[in-house]
Amino acid sequence: MAPRILIAGLWHETNTFSPIATDLAAFRTYQWAEGEDLTSRYAGTNTEIGGMLKGAEAAGFQVVPGLFAGAIPSGTVTRSAFETLAERITDTVRSKQPDGILLALHGAMVADGIPDADATLARRVRDCAPSGVPIVATYDLHANISQSLVDACDLLIGYDTFPHTDMGARGEEAAAHLAAMLATGTRPAKVFRKLAMITVPQMQATAEPPMAAVMARVAQAEAVDGVDVVSVAQGFAYADVDHLGIAVTGYGSDPAAVTREVEAVAAAVEAARKGFLPVLVPVEEAVRVAAEPGIGPVVLVEPADNVGGGAPGDGTAILAEMVRRRVPGTIVIWDPSAVAAARGRQRFAGPVGGRTLPNLHGAPVEAEGMVVFDEAAVRYVRDGAYMTGQQVPMGDVAVVRTDFGLNIVLTGERVMPFDDTHLRRIGIDPAGEPALVAKSGSAWKIAFQAIARRAVVVDTGGVCASLVERLPYTRDAVRRCWPLSDIADRQSLAP
Ligand SMILES: [Zn+2]
Repeated sequence: MAPRILIAGLWHETNTFSPIATDLAAFRTYQWAEGEDLTSRYAGTNTEIGGMLKGAEAAGFQVVPGLFAGAIPSGTVTRSAFETLAERITDTVRSKQPDGILLALHGAMVADGIPDADATLARRVRDCAPSGVPIVATYDLHANISQSLVDACDLLIGYDTFPHTDMGARGEEAAAHLAAMLATGTRPAKVFRKLAMITVPQMQATAEPPMAAVMARVAQAEAVDGVDVVSVAQGFAYADVDHLGIAVTGYGSDPAAVTREVEAVAAAVEAARKGFLPVLVPVEEAVRVAAEPGIGPVVLVEPADNVGGGAPGDGTAILAEMVRRRVPGTIVIWDPSAVAAARGRQRFAGPVGGRTLPNLHGAPVEAEGMVVFDEAAVRYVRDGAYMTGQQVPMGDVAVVRTDFGLNIVLTGERVMPFDDTHLRRIGIDPAGEPALVAKSGSAWKIAFQAIARRAVVVDTGGVCASLVERLPYTRDAVRRCWPLSDIADRQSLAP
């Protein structure tokens, strides 16, 4: 009889410095599918669940679809949201008693009072599953992996790409490993190596230095006999938790080979460390570049207000300078109240952005212009390489176009610029824009690198600061991590 495999998951990257609490509504708004809806919504998509469904079919599994819920990166998950979501998943495990379990996790979720929420969920699933049932989980490259998560699962597979494009492939691989465990009755040896290092999204792109060399070493490790999977979790810097930082996980039938290869990958990460130090350009200088006529699109990258890292996306430091210098282009600002003020009108004049963290992200900016787009509850289907096929909400949207040609895109939901679909959906052709502001670390590249004539990484304040010494960490374990432990490294490189 075909093995009955539960597919479920919980996906959140938690920025504990963000004041925007992540409640159940945030999951309901962003990603939520359960039972048959999970199958119909994610089959054929480039998501972990899409890949797991495809792999399950190839392995001849009978799929038991559970709950998959995801919220856009934001602040700490409320305790009641976590308990509700975890219970829905464990209830399914209890009632269906599956032969195997595939979990799509992020690996950097923090709930109120539960700093290692992914591990807590995996442990609860383990505790209510039939004894010995194999559990395979996927994790995002930005996971902060702990020993507890490694202990709770038989195998973990992380994304190998950033910007992320291999979610489907990793989900498919997870199903194949689960099938092998069920067929042989064996479990792979596990090796977990944590490094006391923090790196930031701006410097983590896997096709660029320093990570390209590390990923080449990962590929070499996975080609060794007796080694099945080696993944590098580069970690998510914006959480004040003891298990912060880079980790390498490895699995295979030959414990000595897995240990050796994981250690070699860890050594490659440590050897590359000075290459992870970010370089940033002051706002005035960056906007001056964008103001030069005829070189666009210039992408002004703002990692400190990285929506994909849980920042609000309403920071105004760049907007204020663009308005002051009258620089044309496009900037997306999360501001439900400005959207409400603009909708239904031909012209808008009023404050924009700066609502959440005015002391860190800039105060509201007075803006004025024609309302050139106005629509309620805008949704789109991602058609880029990131989570292809996933449906995402933008909320109500209004676009205010100033008399000097700056499109201020006001959104009711926070929007990650991981594809250009969100701009095309509202009538903006990014290739035709002189300047594009991307509130992102590296993931913007997937959408805009091909059209960017130039990209400038801008130094602004924010809860996703690339200079991690600016963040209010309290945990001793975090302070012991490089570069906080050794800030002289950075100072020696300062101009
Ligand atoms: Zn990620």
